[in-house]
Amino acid sequence: MYSASSKTMPCLLGMSTEEIVRLLEEMGQKPYRGRQISAWIYKHRARNFGEMTDLPLSLREQLSAAFSIGRGEVLLERKSCDGTVKLLLGLRDGESVECVYLPYEGRDSVCVSTQVGCPVACAFCATGLMGFRRNLTAGEIVEQVLVAQDIAVREQGENARISNVVFMGMGEPLLNLEATVKAMKLINSELGISMRSLTVSTVGVIPAIRRLAEYRLPFTLAVSLHAPEQKLREQIVPLARRYPLDELLQACHEYAEITGRRVTYEYVMLAGVNDSLKHARRLGMLLKGELAHVNLIPYNPCPEIEGFEASPPEQIQRFQEELERCGVRATARVPRGRDIEAACGQLKGSLAGRKALGRMSEGCATSERTL
Ligand code: SF4
Repeated sequence: MYSASSKTMPCLLGMSTEEIVRLLEEMGQKPYRGRQISAWIYKHRARNFGEMTDLPLSLREQLSAAFSIGRGEVLLERKSCDGTVKLLLGLRDGESVECVYLPYEGRDSVCVSTQVGCPVACAFCATGLMGFRRNLTAGEIVEQVLVAQDIAVREQGENARISNVVFMGMGEPLLNLEATVKAMKLINSELGISMRSLTVSTVGVIPAIRRLAEYRLPFTLAVSLHAPEQKLREQIVPLARRYPLDELLQACHEYAEITGRRVTYEYVMLAGVNDSLKHARRLGMLLKGELAHVNLIPYNPCPEIEGFEASPPEQIQRFQEELERCGVRATARVPRGRDIEAACGQLKGSLAGRKALGRMSEGCATSERTL
């Protein structure tokens, strides 16, 4: 738990090694002390200054009195039959966010949140129902990767490494652009994860896409399209009213031209809503000739949201084949963590609901810990 004072102290998690070195120099310490502290935070994932045993005791005490590392507590953890682990992470101000550890053969990934709640309110999304609470800091985003790394080591052994990070959890990353970009840079420089292994997902905040293009960072931009027509898209993604489909596609086209990076288009498959072959052909027409790839995402139904069902796997396959016929590369994603409510917002919602009900739910081979 956080002590009252540590809740308000400045955090070192979220600062680069250079920034920590400068801070230590201001405290009259040699630069190598800053590098030692940075290594403890990012490489050894220390949770308190007491663990930093190669620092003099007096410095550890000085740091403890003035700073917090900024690590939170895992409030709830659910493990799926397929190895996916979903975590609810408590923040210093009492808020909480979700992150998901996704083990793949030789490519462990984590899906991180960038906001508490989300102002976008997509029609199919449990996080959207919560409304927007606040932006996360860069440190709070990076911390989710550290938590996932802890889980990877616990599940797979000391050599396990998180190698991919997707910014696709709670919140719209491009409405928290500054912290998102800083977190990407920290994940790259401090955790050693390649920028090419980072994916940032957006529903299409056009001005932020244009700003991101100027950074020329080699991460993958994933745009959640979800519909090939403006009217339908407005029903699924309300922010589409502000950022129309044709302008969004133009911004993505320019993004690909400026950066030379292929844009990924995410398309959640909703039965009877956006999954017909007519929709596939329309999407194919929009993206033909673009530097683009489409990910077809099976919908993860959640009890709080009515009116949407997952498209059957055969329909997803037909949709994919139709896109390919139109000359657009597409992949059907394999659903993960269905038995643990792995879609974003579901775990936080379920903790709140369970607290109200005062009971615990149980899954098949699923395991759950309230911590
Ligand atoms: S899908 Fe993403 S952008 Fe849409 S409401 Fe959910 S968290 Fe926000």
